[in-house]
Amino acid sequence: MKGENPAGTKIEAAQPLTEITRSDLIADRAYEEIREAIFANRLPPGAPLSVPELARQLAISRSPVREAVQRLVHDGLAVTSPYKGAMVARVDVEDLYRLYEVRELLEGLAARLATERLDKTALAELEEILNQHRKVLEDREDLAAHIDLDMRFHRQIREIAGNPHLAAVLDGLQGKIQLAMRSLWRSDDAPFNALRDHEKILAAMSSGDPADAEVVARAHIARVRETLVEAHQGKKDTGATKPQSSATQGGYDETKNG
Ligand SMILES: [Zn+2]
Repeated sequence: MKGENPAGTKIEAAQPLTEITRSDLIADRAYEEIREAIFANRLPPGAPLSVPELARQLAISRSPVREAVQRLVHDGLAVTSPYKGAMVARVDVEDLYRLYEVRELLEGLAARLATERLDKTALAELEEILNQHRKVLEDREDLAAHIDLDMRFHRQIREIAGNPHLAAVLDGLQGKIQLAMRSLWRSDDAPFNALRDHEKILAAMSSGDPADAEVVARAHIARVRETLVEAHQGKKDTGATKPQSSATQGGYDETKNG
């Protein structure tokens, strides 16, 4: 009932906020759980995302699972097809290449803005991430930690940059970037090259030259973009089907590449 409050003023019929329900929270958890399984390759590219089956495994009802799957589709981590329903997205090198074209500009901008705002605390935080990254790379097999630290470095820069619009756009690309990085791991040098690039970015930032920081950050993403394409071409060459056409077409099944 929308009556009057004790002070006598009318309460607006429409409330500005919607109640948070338990099912929203369950959907969040389901989303995180499925996303994690995709990144860990427990749900490999092309794996079906059957709502009833996921609901059974997660021991929850179907509607939060349906919501979680929709979010994954929105993130580009899952796709729906009219006959098969949803499945984990295959890594499409053409799509990743385009994603990295955009990312190059945005990370460059982030580095430039962050350099303008860099103080001692922010610098120390970035240095600490690099220190941890160096340590992790001594153990070559820790893919998850490498990806986590790599992304943390970029996230920290975008936080220092202090532009919420820029941060929102980059956050939206995060899921696919993480998928791309996972596929890059097959090149043994990739994590070391990334760390070296990050060191250069931090050096440019701490020397206080925003334009230089932008150039170096862009070069980092551009190099990764080229490596991605090379990695995928290499994989295509060793694949069973060996498509002759451009290596920038279509997806492939990552499970075959260990
Ligand atoms: Zn990086």
